Amino acid sequence: MKNVVIFGSTGSIGKQTLEVTEKLNDFSILGLTCGKNIKLLIEQIKKYNPKVVCVQNQEDAKEINSAFPDLSVYFGEEGLLQIVKENKYDILVVATSGIISVKAVLKAIENQKTIALANKETLVMAGDIVMEKARKYSTPIVPIDSEHSAILQCMNTFDNKYAKNLWITASGGPFLNSSREDMKNFTSTEALKHPRWNMGKKITIDCSTLVNKGLEVIEAHHLYNFNYENIKVVIHPQSLVHSCVEFIDGSFLAQMGVPSMHIPIQYALTYPKRHEGIKSGSFVPFGKTLEFFEPDFKKFPLLKLTIECGISGGIMPAILNAANEVAVYKFLNNEIKFLDIEHIVYNQIEKAKNISNPTIEDIFEADKRVRKNLEAIKL
Ligand code: MG
Repeated sequence: MKNVVIFGSTGSIGKQTLEVTEKLNDFSILGLTCGKNIKLLIEQIKKYNPKVVCVQNQEDAKEINSAFPDLSVYFGEEGLLQIVKENKYDILVVATSGIISVKAVLKAIENQKTIALANKETLVMAGDIVMEKARKYSTPIVPIDSEHSAILQCMNTFDNKYAKNLWITASGGPFLNSSREDMKNFTSTEALKHPRWNMGKKITIDCSTLVNKGLEVIEAHHLYNFNYENIKVVIHPQSLVHSCVEFIDGSFLAQMGVPSMHIPIQYALTYPKRHEGIKSGSFVPFGKTLEFFEPDFKKFPLLKLTIECGISGGIMPAILNAANEVAVYKFLNNEIKFLDIEHIVYNQIEKAKNISNPTIEDIFEADKRVRKNLEAIKL
């Protein structure tokens, strides 16, 4: 039996991870954590019977504790660290959004147990620190994201010496065929209509600006220790090829499947093995057309900027990430227009002073500073 802890169990990936573990025979849920969706967490506690949970606020923790007296209930960032320190899990699934779990992941690496990673900020903000520590402790960091899972499935290992270029596919988002002029008036409702994948709101907006793809390039750089010049982005509107690896002899391997997160989640849980499990739609290639295009960096300048921040390294990815996150939530709240996301992010990057080889504190400080800068922004 493998004991699984899920950070972020009430989010899109967290919920799907629970569905996957239900279909696998030898996985049991040891711990669940969430931010504020206490109603769903309580349903999950009743259904999956975890031993430990963690929520964002102390009041919610108290409420859960009185309803479930046998359960260990923690709260806040410290609570996540406590679960990691107890060290009774076999797999830690990190499906939180934002930066709340970054320190807990750094601590968890010391446990040398598999970390199945869906949270983008961990590698985007602190990829150098996280991967150096993971290598030191030989802790596997297995990606859940479909593109990085596809790359792992094609290479079968994290350091395939015959791999030359990584080709990361992007659906292109809902505005692939729109003009810059049209983009000015896009509403959050339009941006939330992703043509292929059904995901959380923040990441869906990141797909419409292609920031998400830039962040995935940064993650791929860290996960597979590839130079940025060997990581390519390719637009593939059908989202059937989830990414490709080009080998030194010119051969390409691609991983295909229905656009469902169940498959990469399950692969992360069972890696390097495969199990029968959840089937979310069958993939039949008959009658399908596969198209591949070069990305339009002029139409989606944030894709270029995000990759450039990755190349600069230091605290630049953290600054970009924070500025983008704040801007996306402002857009979702109808406080700003679609293209203002670009303006906000560009502005913060232009102002920023990089630090090379930052400490984790430097990175968090940069993140905080950007959020503070943007608190009172007027457009
Ligand atoms: Mg992805």
